[in-house]
Amino acid sequence: MVEKKRSICLFCSLGCGTMFRTAGEHVLAIDYDRDNPVNQGSLCPRGNYNFELLNHPCRLAEPQIGKRKASWRETIDLLRRRFMEFDPDSVGIVVSSLSSNEDACLAAKLAGQLGTKNIAAAADPADLEAYAGSKWEAEGAKLARIEKMGKEEALLIIGDVLTRSPVLAKRVNQVKYGKRGNRVTVIDPNQTHTSWFATTHLKNQPGTEALVLAAILKVVSEESGKARIDLNLEKVSKTVGIPQEVLVKAARDFNAAASGTIIFVPRETIARNDLCAYFARMLASLSPNKKYITCYGFGNTLGVNTILDGMVSGHLSSADLLKKVEGGQLKALLILGEDLAASHPELEKRIRGLELVAMSNYFLTPLTDDALTLLPLASHLENSASYTLADGRRERIDAAAPKVGTMSNAEIIAALLGDKVDLGQADQEAKAVVEKGVPSDKAELKQKLSEAQKITARKDAPELNITHFGNNRLVRNFFWYRVNNKHG
Ligand code: SF4
Repeated sequence: MVEKKRSICLFCSLGCGTMFRTAGEHVLAIDYDRDNPVNQGSLCPRGNYNFELLNHPCRLAEPQIGKRKASWRETIDLLRRRFMEFDPDSVGIVVSSLSSNEDACLAAKLAGQLGTKNIAAAADPADLEAYAGSKWEAEGAKLARIEKMGKEEALLIIGDVLTRSPVLAKRVNQVKYGKRGNRVTVIDPNQTHTSWFATTHLKNQPGTEALVLAAILKVVSEESGKARIDLNLEKVSKTVGIPQEVLVKAARDFNAAASGTIIFVPRETIARNDLCAYFARMLASLSPNKKYITCYGFGNTLGVNTILDGMVSGHLSSADLLKKVEGGQLKALLILGEDLAASHPELEKRIRGLELVAMSNYFLTPLTDDALTLLPLASHLENSASYTLADGRRERIDAAAPKVGTMSNAEIIAALLGDKVDLGQADQEAKAVVEKGVPSDKAELKQKLSEAQKITARKDAPELNITHFGNNRLVRNFFWYRVNNKHG
């Protein structure tokens, strides 16, 4: 009998609903979840390729110790014993941002059992920088909900959101054509898929997006009778390459709208993603009825980072953990759902030189050598788990297909922890951590504005590649990546 099973796409942090047609253990086809309030059935090309996670011919199905196939029991026993042999300071754990909330919660517990704070989320460095800025205190700033975004009168978009998260096109169009006078303002150095829909395109000098936002923040704050902001608009206008009167008008228009959302898309070409995330939130708190959202590259960036921050105080940042790998301070590494050598080719030699590397992944890695244990990973489509998406909503999904030889990260960690771990309890614990949120880092607006004024323009900002949303082995295994990227 043919059944329909719901799931979500995690190839960006919108978390669009998707559907699969199944018959018994077989997944027959991808389908469309038209009742899903977020995407109403739409999927972008990457969303459609979720199906490949289930039937890809290169999926791993058996653990591998070095070049030898092994049973799960032998593999887990070996790793449990070996990881305990190292000094806690020389052990590290990396958690992919495609991991579930339960995965992150149990990884935090494993770090506790190993006695290490060397644990960090792996994600696009621009996303991690933006996440750091999103923790700076901006009292009263509210997260936008995707399903409500189409009813706004104004959108202020920093970056090319329609390449990062194409399914948002419907919302952008709902705003643009919803009512005469509605505004879609786009800050981007390039003409992009998003800027085609702009009513005002602020074509800034590459890298200066944070400074454009600072200028808008100044106008909005002073127009609304709030704090005077010490920022020389004439100077800013020269640096960002946009006439002062255009900046002022864009800010006034956004402030005058009865409701609006600021959408931020982090990118490595932006000089300070953390400042952009902070200014976006400050703007949301100052302008009446405005909200903000950061559209990350991978589905559970917000959930994984929030859980690690909430459960392992003082844990390493991803950048610091990579520095420890580079500096040779780590001897053993557990990499959950990420091919670190593919994301950071400059570290490949170092990773190969570690005494112990265990990596859960969907695909084989060229890294395979004697020190590496490879753990075949179940994808989110073969798991029942929870995720926290860009707009803060929690999605609990059931497996759309059975696992074939694979385990989820949560199951792998539970086996390593050795206790009888209750995955349902881990989900509830993760939920409580996300709901509580992490305490904000104190931030001085004056200080952040002075940092923004140090930004100088870059030479250029190449356009986003429509198929490339991460330098990750997962992505490179997909057909659409290979046909669109000759070096893939
Ligand atoms: S917009 Fe994002 S979540 Fe939606 S289908 Fe595309 S990649 Fe997946």
